[in-house]
Amino acid sequence: MSTFKDLGLNENIIKALTDLGYENPTEIQLKSIPQVIASKQDLKAFAQTGTGKTAAFSLPILEQIDANSSDTQAVILSPTRELALQIATNINDFSKYLKGVKCEAVYGGASIEEQIRKLKKGVQIVVGTPGRTVDLINRKQLKLEKIQWLVLDEADEMLNMGFKDELDKILEVTPEDKQTLLFSATFPQEVESIARNYMNKPVEISSGQKNKGSDQVSHQYYVVSERNRYAALKRIADVNPDIYSIIFCRTRRETQEVADKLIKDGYNADALHGDLSQAQRDSVMEKFRNKTLQLLVATDVAARGLDVNDLTHVINHKLPDQIESYTHRSGRTGRAGKEGISIAIVTGREKGKLRPIERIIGKQFVSTQVPTGKEICQNQLLKLIDKVHDIKVNDTEINDFLPSIYEKLEGLDREELIKRFVSIEFNTFLSYYENAPDLNDSEQMRGSDRGSDTRGKRRDDENMTRFFINIGRKDKLNPARLIGLINDQRIAKNIEIGQIEILDTFSFFELDKNYQDETISAFQKGDVDFEGRNVNVEVTEKKRSGRGGGGSSRRDGGGSGRRENSDSEGGRRSRSGGGKPRSKDRKTAGGGDSASGFGRKRSDSKSFGNTKPSQRRKG
Ligand code: AMP
Repeated sequence: MSTFKDLGLNENIIKALTDLGYENPTEIQLKSIPQVIASKQDLKAFAQTGTGKTAAFSLPILEQIDANSSDTQAVILSPTRELALQIATNINDFSKYLKGVKCEAVYGGASIEEQIRKLKKGVQIVVGTPGRTVDLINRKQLKLEKIQWLVLDEADEMLNMGFKDELDKILEVTPEDKQTLLFSATFPQEVESIARNYMNKPVEISSGQKNKGSDQVSHQYYVVSERNRYAALKRIADVNPDIYSIIFCRTRRETQEVADKLIKDGYNADALHGDLSQAQRDSVMEKFRNKTLQLLVATDVAARGLDVNDLTHVINHKLPDQIESYTHRSGRTGRAGKEGISIAIVTGREKGKLRPIERIIGKQFVSTQVPTGKEICQNQLLKLIDKVHDIKVNDTEINDFLPSIYEKLEGLDREELIKRFVSIEFNTFLSYYENAPDLNDSEQMRGSDRGSDTRGKRRDDENMTRFFINIGRKDKLNPARLIGLINDQRIAKNIEIGQIEILDTFSFFELDKNYQDETISAFQKGDVDFEGRNVNVEVTEKKRSGRGGGGSSRRDGGGSGRRENSDSEGGRRSRSGGGKPRSKDRKTAGGGDSASGFGRKRSDSKSFGNTKPSQRRKG
């Protein structure tokens, strides 16, 4: 494998990279760095966010920059202030052992005089947002005559955000002989036309396939009715106690509303959108970055500057209007080699939007059931038990209290004690989700509106056999891994896979019924192992169709036992009192807002979720 040294970078840059913990170049760095060092030809790079593209364009520039000259030699354009600042910080880190190299970020919403003062001192690399860059050019404060490199980072986003005129202007006034480096995650027509009009026979490189999503991300969708959208969102958060996620909304208003509801319901959430002041946005982003915030509800534009690598989920509360935005949203997870899940919550009507996205990301969405109350309780309970298991006991402090504690608990055996301690936390969850309705819009999940191609067929129960498999979430199984496992058995070429249901210790999947016997024998023959467990697959009873249908015969009641009425979670909650509200919660909970009951009841159960990042119930 090539090292940074093999790519032609000098010792001082490599030393800085070592300080940052960069051991080996990423794919895009492997392709871009030697190309830009060796050639003045323009470069068009397909690169997702999170693939290391900042270093891919900055390192070869730093390798060639003339530190003895104070002329501006490189301009890097980025869509947002946050991204510009992040790129400048990265470049300053990369160049810390390069004497005399200066890099500054220029962006709107901050004093232009201050930025001019810095530019006057001589800055070789300027990272700017398009608007502020044009402003500085017009004021003749940013001199472009000596520019050798112009980088367009996230070109698609800059165009999405309406910076076409600014880009045209900058591209027109920069010297002909400069090298233009264009980086984009997607290549809609507008980006192609920039490349056509302003670039000279660019070399094309890519990490991953053009316009494709990251391989590390699996895509799931949940079908619910409009009025259950928010309740489904909460269940997704509840079934994943360690969730660390951006929830994307389409408008500032929707963003604020969802965040307000989550906060009111006791989740550790906040909003990020353009109506907030810069100081407010900075504060929210900081909290999210350092994981004191677990759920960030954001618009596409506002979330752009966030550099967070370890999101567990990206949730599309509503799908974006522009298909390309989905790639950007989902690219927020599955970064730096980690796995991630991108979730779309859709109504029956919105389901048609999934197909065009699938074409772009080159992957299929997996139909997933909104978790039942039982599944949520089970996950939360296991999380609680893990916490009890891992808690550090402060022996010195607790010792003095133990005699009186033992005295009070005398007569209770081990089993009784465990049950009682766990119930302190668990009862609130249990009663909250008691008789929780099925939120899945099962009529719509059948896929009748997904066209007459194989997708439609594959969700048609008539053609599918339902299988039980003895592994589940606890074995680190997710829909993507299950599909991989099925494919590994080579049952048949392009076999149709239907609904997948992952539960904690076991799961279900549907496959083309024509291959029922082959499926069973493939799993038996292969003596299949998964995460150290011997895999067992059996045919099981189909789920009954329609609302209120029970689970398969294997199901232990979770997800069935459906409602007598069609209450949303909120309505049910407001009838099920209990819990000891704290005064803070009482204040915010009024007005009969159905959502408020949750926060009140669960405000007692601070230890659900995790300590970090969660502390998920406020207060
Ligand atoms: P970027 O796509 O430039 O935003 O980079 C995504 C993340 O990967 C950032 O946190 C970088 O610091 C990190 N990164 C980039 N290149 C490397 C590398 N070669 N080794 C380790 N981490 C890297």
